[in-house]
Amino acid sequence: MGTSMAPRYANLFMGALEGKMLNSSPHQPLIWLRYIDDIFLIWTHGSSKLDQFLAHANNFHPTIKFTSEISPLKIPFLDVMITLQDGRLETALCSKPTDTFNYLHWGSCHPRHTKRSIPYSLAFRLVRICSTGGALNTRFAQLSSRLQKRGFPHKQIELAINKARSTPRPQALQRRKKVLPGHREFPSWSHTTLRYPTPATSSKPTFPSSIYAIDAKRSSTNGRVFNITLNLSCHSHNIIYLITCTKCNKQYIGKTKNSLRTRFTSHRFDINNDRGTSVAKHFNLDDHTSQHVNIIAIDQLPGSDSISLLNKETHWIHTLNTTEPHGMNIKEQESLPICIHFK
Ligand SMILES: [Zn+2]
Repeated sequence: MGTSMAPRYANLFMGALEGKMLNSSPHQPLIWLRYIDDIFLIWTHGSSKLDQFLAHANNFHPTIKFTSEISPLKIPFLDVMITLQDGRLETALCSKPTDTFNYLHWGSCHPRHTKRSIPYSLAFRLVRICSTGGALNTRFAQLSSRLQKRGFPHKQIELAINKARSTPRPQALQRRKKVLPGHREFPSWSHTTLRYPTPATSSKPTFPSSIYAIDAKRSSTNGRVFNITLNLSCHSHNIIYLITCTKCNKQYIGKTKNSLRTRFTSHRFDINNDRGTSVAKHFNLDDHTSQHVNIIAIDQLPGSDSISLLNKETHWIHTLNTTEPHGMNIKEQESLPICIHFK
């Protein structure tokens, strides 16, 4: 497939193409399953309409042409052999005639856990692919003999096969959630609670009315609540901050490489001098005063990279839905050039 991006491009292209092609066809297949550029379909409209359908598919794009293999009984698709048996589809493992089953040798200098996981992974794959007990047992026997030829202890193989066999197939076929390394899942908002801080002192109100780093943030437009796990204060740098108008609940997301305190001083100057920024305009509206400003730091970046900060800001603007007319952020964000690196 060439470069690492190639399958993604192919998927995007084929996804768009197949949608248009199928929608414009007078007859559609009963099932259409695609893996990148390999397609399995079931046709129920007879052979003459199938010819028309294949002609339609092949004339749809100037360079994308389909080759097809048609059978009323059985057909291979990826590593699965699909058989039509008494009106039901049965699946079994399909391996290429050139496959040498040259698995890692047990005597190889790999960590033991790597070698031990091989029999189970292979056996589990068979449980997923083979839909009938007969096909599964045949493949288990073949697997066992192939692994023994690669030096795997018989007991190790038997344990792995028994463990795989004990998993019910519907369970084995369930899609497993992929978690990328280093990827942290965001906590579900329905399980988080909102805690607004109370001012530490009850002295006469000073501007700003509140400037805190707190442990939750909430969108005033969609009500979603998010936990903040970062320890942020008005001295934190490279931050995303949230301004909430306590009069009408409109919100604004901003970013700064400076501290929240410094950025707030600048916002205050804009408001006091009605400088025409979206925040200044809002807090100069009728019935609004600077006392209605509530500002909190909600996110932080490890460095001061402008693009990352802009991306983070955009993320929060969308997440908390703070664009006009719901919030104070103007639709066109101040434009930074977008860097694209072609290789
Ligand atoms: Zn307001």
